[in-house]
Amino acid sequence: MTPESLARAVARDRRPGPAGPTDARRYVNQWVEREAIGPEQVAAFVLILRTRGCYWADEKGCSMCGYAKDTLGRSATPEELAEQLAHAVARYRDEPYVKIYTSGSFLDDREVDPESRRRLVETFSGRARRLLFETLPEFATPETLGPLHTAFAGELEVALGLESTDPTVLGKYVHKNAPPSEYLAAGDRVRALGLRAKAYLLLKPPYLTESESIRDVVRSIEEAAPRFDALSVNPVHIQNGTVVEWLYRRGRYRPPWLWSVVEALKEGASRRGPTRLVSFPTAGGLARGPHNCGKCDARVLEAIEFASLHQEFGLLDELDCACRTEWEISRTLEPLGVEA
Ligand code: SF4
Ligand SMILES: [Zn+2]
Repeated sequence: MTPESLARAVARDRRPGPAGPTDARRYVNQWVEREAIGPEQVAAFVLILRTRGCYWADEKGCSMCGYAKDTLGRSATPEELAEQLAHAVARYRDEPYVKIYTSGSFLDDREVDPESRRRLVETFSGRARRLLFETLPEFATPETLGPLHTAFAGELEVALGLESTDPTVLGKYVHKNAPPSEYLAAGDRVRALGLRAKAYLLLKPPYLTESESIRDVVRSIEEAAPRFDALSVNPVHIQNGTVVEWLYRRGRYRPPWLWSVVEALKEGASRRGPTRLVSFPTAGGLARGPHNCGKCDARVLEAIEFASLHQEFGLLDELDCACRTEWEISRTLEPLGVEA
């Protein structure tokens, strides 16, 4: 099976059927997490809305993304979205940072219609200082962003899944719908409108070795930093119904080591200029997430979080464990992959 046909077969299998009204009235999840706005440590209110989900996940989808399972298989109506919002707002305690995710693009009209978008943003206006949402680059335009800018009194942050600045990595291994140049251009458009632009960079997409993926992220940090206000290194974790899971089950993929995250941050910190550099690994320390030996994982994850929140990367130099040598040796034994 070629990577191309594998991606399409996996996408076909994970597409959900159209959901009934009960599911559509409930958001997927909500929690509060630690974040920072500049040097200040703040609480962030995170909300995942249930929407139609990412259109690209239906066509082919990205090799590591299993978020289609949290979607409706049809567009949510404005009434359903209003009900999801009302449930969420009942739990909101004026956290200064708000993050709204949709398992796709907040700015895609098929997921969230323009009036619901405006209402959502307006709801947090005057209460949150910063509001983040994610989108594919083609939807980040003055037409979609302008009304939201007007509706929100604080700072809007637009997050883009750039993943890699290498067109081959992004197109052939991550399977994104657009080349890196479109993500960089979208970041420029966002900033030209006076909004914050954030990019995610993926550590260890399939078909890259551990060493290649570290090099790819570090180079991507250097190339993307001048175009974004913040960069987040996201190590792959294995989600259900993905190409990465298909490879993992056949012994052909290991999630990245936490040492690789540490290395990428240390190297990246010296090349990012004034841009914020963070990493908050999902499923860190678990078998299907980025992990080390099991003994040092909690300590290393804590140091990564501290570095991300405080923008102080020096403590990462002091980390050590016997498994670090194993990580170094395993990298020298890796089969030669495709140079990133
Ligand atoms: S990673 Fe983003 S663009 Fe790719 S399939 Fe998932 S939601 Fe869509
Ligand atoms: Zn260890």
